[in-house]
Formats: sequence, C-alpha cells, structure tokens
Amino acid sequence: MQPVRILLVEDDPAHQNLLKQALVTNRPFVDVCVVSTGDEFRKAIQRQRFDCALVDYKLPDINGDELLRAVENDLHGCPALVISSSETQQVAVSSIRSGSLDFIPKTEALEGDMLWQRIQVAIRKTGKKRAEQRKIERRQGQLARLAETDQLTGLYNRRYLDRQLQDGTYQRDRRRKMSCIMLDIDHFKEINDIYGHAVGDTLLKDIAETVRTSLSGGDAALRWGGDEFLILHSSTGLCEAWVWSRGLKNHIEHRSFRAGRKDIDVTVSVGIINFPTTKMGQEMIDLTDQAMYLAKRQGRNRICTWPMVAVEQAMVKIQRDGPDDPARRRIEFLASCDGIFGPTQKQQLWDHCKTVGAVVNKLGQVMDIPKKNLETFQLAGLFHDLGKSVIPEDLLAQQAPLTKQQWPVINSHSDFGADMALQLGTVREVAACIRDHHRPYSQAYATDSFVRLGARIICAADALTAMTEERPYRPARSHEEALAELTRGSGAQFDPQVVAAAHTIEPLRSVKVKAA
Ligand code: GH3
Ligand code: MG
Repeated sequence: MQPVRILLVEDDPAHQNLLKQALVTNRPFVDVCVVSTGDEFRKAIQRQRFDCALVDYKLPDINGDELLRAVENDLHGCPALVISSSETQQVAVSSIRSGSLDFIPKTEALEGDMLWQRIQVAIRKTGKKRAEQRKIERRQGQLARLAETDQLTGLYNRRYLDRQLQDGTYQRDRRRKMSCIMLDIDHFKEINDIYGHAVGDTLLKDIAETVRTSLSGGDAALRWGGDEFLILHSSTGLCEAWVWSRGLKNHIEHRSFRAGRKDIDVTVSVGIINFPTTKMGQEMIDLTDQAMYLAKRQGRNRICTWPMVAVEQAMVKIQRDGPDDPARRRIEFLASCDGIFGPTQKQQLWDHCKTVGAVVNKLGQVMDIPKKNLETFQLAGLFHDLGKSVIPEDLLAQQAPLTKQQWPVINSHSDFGADMALQLGTVREVAACIRDHHRPYSQAYATDSFVRLGARIICAADALTAMTEERPYRPARSHEEALAELTRGSGAQFDPQVVAAAHTIEPLRSVKVKAA
C-alpha cells in the first residue's frame, strides 16, 4: 500500500509535534513531512508530490491564505486544508476563498480522530474530482479525434491539417524537411458506375489501408476529398518522396482489388511537393494539387512533382511568347530559364548535352550518315537529357551510388525528355531517338531503323561523354578508358558499328563544342 503523504507547515514546535502525533499514531501508512515557513512549504511542494497539505494560518513569513494563492499552480491538484488557532469567521472565509478545501480550528484538529477524518474527506473529494476531470478530458480527446477522422476510411480528414497548421506543429517541423503528396484514384467514377457505390467504398477503404501501412512514424495520411488522399511524408528530399510514392503507386497498380468474383484494375495519379519549396498551408495544397493534375493530364497512373509543373509552365510560355521554330531555339530558351533548374540539372541539361551533340556529329561523319539525317540525330543528341530537368536535383547531385529504387527514377528521364521535346515542337524522330537512347543494342526496338540508328549513336556518344566527365559520385575517366568500356559493352549495350566509329574520333577534350 502506498503511504499517504502529508505536508504540514507549522512554525510552533509544540503544535508540530501534537499534529504529527495525531496523524501517525496507529497509522503506519501515514507519512508526514513537516516544514516551518511558507518558503519551505513552497520548495517542498515543488520538489515532491503530496496527497494533502496542512497549512497553519499564521506563519512567520506569510499568512496561510496568501501562501495558498501563491502556490496555486504548484499544488497540482493536491488538496490543502488551513488549520488555525484563531477561530474567527474572517480567517475561515479568507482561507476557503484562497483554495483551502476546509478550515479546521486547532482545538478541533487535536480532538480524537477529527483531523484524519477531515483529511480523508478532502483526499476523497479531490480524487473524485480528478477522475471526473480525466473522464471529461478523455471524452473530449475522443470527440476531437472523431472530428478529425474520416468516417469511411479511418484516416484523418481536413480538420486534422487545419489544427496542425493552427498549432504550428508542421511549421516547426519544417526544419526536418517534409513532402506533401496528393494521390487521386484514376477513373474512380467509372468504378462506381460499373460496380456500384458499395464496391467504390470498399475500394476507398482498401486504398486507405494500403496508404496507412506504407507510412512511417512522423508521416500522416488524410482523406482529402472523395477519392483524393493527402500524405504528409517526412522525407529528406524530393527524390526520397518520389521513390516512396513510386513504390506505393506500383503496389496499388499491381495488387488486385476484388469486386465479387472480378478483379478491378486500379491506378492512381500522384503529385508531390517537397519543402522548403513552399510554406505550409493552402499554398502547399494548391501546388501539390497542380502537380497531381499534371499527372492526370499527362495520361494518369504516373507521378508528377512541383518542379515538373514549373517546367511545364515555362514550356507553355515558350510556346506562347518564346522564339518561333526551330525547336532547337525553343529548347535552348528553356535551358536558359532562370529559377527553374538546380546547378546539376543545368550542367546535365546544357554542358553535357552540348558535348554529346558534338560527339554525335563526329560519329555520324565517320559513319557517313547523310547530312539531313545527321542533323536530326545531332539535335536529338543535343537534347537527349532534356528530361533530366525534371529529375530531382538531389538525386542528380547525389554522391552515393544510386540504389535499386532510385534507378527507375533516373531512367524515367528518357520518356519525360521525349514528351517535352515533342511539346516544344521537335519532329517525331527527334523525340523517338530521345526516348530510345538508353535502350541496349541487344534489346528489340519497336521503332523504325532510322530511329534505332540515331538512338544507338546517341547512346554511345552519351556514355563516352559521361565517362570522361566528373560526377558527384566518381572521378572522370580518360578517353582511352572510356573507349575500352565501350568495347567491353559492344554488341550488348552498344552498337559495334558505332563503337568502331568511336575509336577513330579524336579524344573528347579536343572535340570542338559549338556555342549554342
Ligand atoms: P480522374 O481520373 O480524373 O480522377 O477521374 P475520376 O473518375 O476519378 O473523377 P474524380 O476524381 O473527379 O471524382 C471522384 C469521384 O469519386 C466522384 C464521386 O462520384 C466519387 N466519390 C466521392 N466520394 C465517394 C465515396 O465516399 N464513396 C464512393 N463510392 N464514391 C465517392
Ligand atoms: Mg479520381
């Protein structure tokens, strides 16, 4: 049994003794701590928790009522009772008004069991009040949680984010970097129409569960609207958020959702924004939404990031106000846009591409490619990495070798680049060469022989150039070492005809790069 701890403040040693004896005699479970002044009382109550405080009204440094008012916040619900040699009504009223649960004249306090009985009543009353308070708080907590929970899926709803924003929790946490991810089910209306609303509801619950089980500590998922989910993801950069979202998107695409005996194919479109691109709040939601809608416009079942929206907006502006054809000038214009690209994106998009374009030209001359065809290949070479402009800067600049999950993100630049080139007005063959330039020689090509040849020349020119350039994760190799690597990959990754041509051109450092 826990002892009942009583703090007694009483300056008169004889009264200290009498009161203590009245409490502990025959009660081994009562533990009385005695102090003599208001100051000692305050220190004791700050140091230790007590079950009850007995306060003598007249103390050398302060009156009991003043003391109770002064320590109100330090009592933490501990009941306090004033005892006094004075029996005037004024002292009793003032003590009660100051927070004393009872007022006990000393003559009564020392009468038999009286003091202990009144202490017990005070402790019981306080305990009951505390239990009721806890019950109210628990109920309030349950109601608050319920108000912030989506009934169908059990995820948070918008009110949760509103409160977090009001509390400033996420603003404070921005230091640890976060991403906001918006996920919307593709063609969900059709699923409702074909299988019925109840199946639609089950699907929403399934997706919510899939999202929930993908979260780690510090992440939060909300049902934002009908078939829209918002995830506040504690990722350290855009690349990490992309890799995580890609895993979730692919998982949803490849798992089966059942409607009776039928499997329903479900895909989602995803938009991502990473901090500190934006402030927490409505702007964050709007920008993430724009990225998600870009994914819808680009054909659904894909991921788009906020930087992609910025690039898309720049491309729309170029089409409207930028230079007229040729496409080459428009793409150069895009590369020169400030404030969209990071330093590594710019280096890859521009310096590296210019060298590759020049190497493609050299190889084509050695291979006797007709001038008109070579112009197409050179343009595709010049813009083969256009898609890197939408690959997260933190991934391009990463010093560590790429992980298995990061490779698909980097590799997606060929498709992005081809789509961007088309949007900027290049001919179909240029876009097709960009799309295929990472396809190994030994793999079947769906495209025509013209594109196949262009893509293979760009593939070898890209590899030769990249190997002789320094990367954040490795030093540059010599021209000879790069050629040896091409030879090793000849027939598998590289076209033997192009590799042979590469052996005849001058070392890359002396390749003349034409100014754009
Ligand atoms: P998109 O690919 O462009 O996203 O097309 P969509 O058909 O998914 O259309 P959209 O996202 O604009 O509309 C979402 C639909 O989700 C509209 C509504 O019929 C349905 N919906 C909204 N709330 C619920 C719900 O609680 N249960 C069910 N079963 N359907 C819902
Ligand atoms: Mg939808």
